[in-house]
Amino acid sequence: MRKEIQLIVPPDVAGDPDKLRRQVAAAAKVDPDEIRHVEILRRSVDARSRRVKVNLKVRVYINEPYQPEKPQLPDYPNVSGGREVIIIGAGPAGLFAALRLMELGWKPVILERGKDVKARIRDIKALNVDHIVDEDSNYCFGEGGAGTYSDGKLYTRAKKRGDVRRILELLVGFGATPDILVDAHPHIGTNKLPGIIAAMRECIRAHGGEIHFESRVADFLLEGDRIRGVRLRDGDVFRSDRVILAAGHSARDLFRLLHRLGIAIELKPLAIGVRVEHEQQLIDRIQYSCEDRGPYLPPAAYSIVRQVGGRGVYSFCMCPGGVIAPCATSPGEIVTNGWSSSRRARSTANSGIVVELRP
Ligand SMILES: Cc1cc2nc3c(=O)[nH]c(=O)nc-3n(C[C@H](O)[C@H](O)[C@H](O)COP(=O)(O)OP(=O)(O)OC[C@H]3O[C@@H](n4cnc5c(N)ncnc54)[C@H](O)[C@@H]3O)c2cc1C
Repeated sequence: MRKEIQLIVPPDVAGDPDKLRRQVAAAAKVDPDEIRHVEILRRSVDARSRRVKVNLKVRVYINEPYQPEKPQLPDYPNVSGGREVIIIGAGPAGLFAALRLMELGWKPVILERGKDVKARIRDIKALNVDHIVDEDSNYCFGEGGAGTYSDGKLYTRAKKRGDVRRILELLVGFGATPDILVDAHPHIGTNKLPGIIAAMRECIRAHGGEIHFESRVADFLLEGDRIRGVRLRDGDVFRSDRVILAAGHSARDLFRLLHRLGIAIELKPLAIGVRVEHEQQLIDRIQYSCEDRGPYLPPAAYSIVRQVGGRGVYSFCMCPGGVIAPCATSPGEIVTNGWSSSRRARSTANSGIVVELRP
């Protein structure tokens, strides 16, 4: 028999399978020995009061064996003979667009100005250590886009909602931890993302899609108001009357090109500010009301939202146990962001503190 139960437990119970089994048995009114497995369906830490609690939704297998089910990737067809769609940019938007096109039988042809995930590492090292910015290969440009060496926090305050669960399942299918399906604030970590991105690329290529690296799009081929293809900086031409622009927020040369060609682009509200860094222990102490968070609680996060002079001021991309990264895409720029590994093990935390700007 299976039973779903909601529980509020102390962190040591949530983090210890034996203690949790006993607590679940009491809640389900069965003997602990009858429980074959406790499957976590939802998990969130509630640190609003001095006594930190963990909210759990679990499925209990009582005298019934548990068979784990890993989300499966769709059965992608071979699209090598399908109609071609050019995608500019191999960031998250471009890669997920490619996967969706393949499901529908179309052939994605991705053009990416940067290098593959492995080759990017050397350029990111040069950026971190020697402050040398390669304009085609940096924290923002290259396979996986700004997502590859990002923090991999998979939640947002935005109200826009697509099929979030489906995207999380795809990420698990490509190698992300299944924990992201249950955590209220799912996080992958920078050390895990490159492998996931490489698995996506291999899947796209294995099913007949194309990905071209070091292929910076420099012009659009237009006939009247119709797109007919794109021209790369080195002169190569790719033709299709379907082009998806997935070039991200830093592709300023493409924005200028669109403007020059009279193609409609729209300014959206944005925010600007600074990135602040603190000792992680300080954040733990404030959020968990204790000197040491112990072995069962994750490094604490925070979220701040205030109205100041009629404008929103808020924290964003808070990285517990993280590091600040130089994310310029051109020499002379100062742009920062933050990331952390899956274990969030560093002694520092950081966060953007930004004020909204309206067009
Ligand atoms: C350090 C860091 C940490 C982050 N942490 C998080 C986080 O925890 N959670 C979160 O949700 N977001 C995070 N982000 C932001 C997130 O990575 C971006 O929002 C996301 O990558 C945007 O996806 P995208 O596909 O739209 O664009 P991008 O990721 O910017 O991808 C665009 C791609 O287009 C390519 N391109 C640009 N111009 C051209 C051209 N002319 N020709 C060919 N290719 C071109 C670029 O090289 C790039 O690969 C982080 C970003 C950074 C840098």
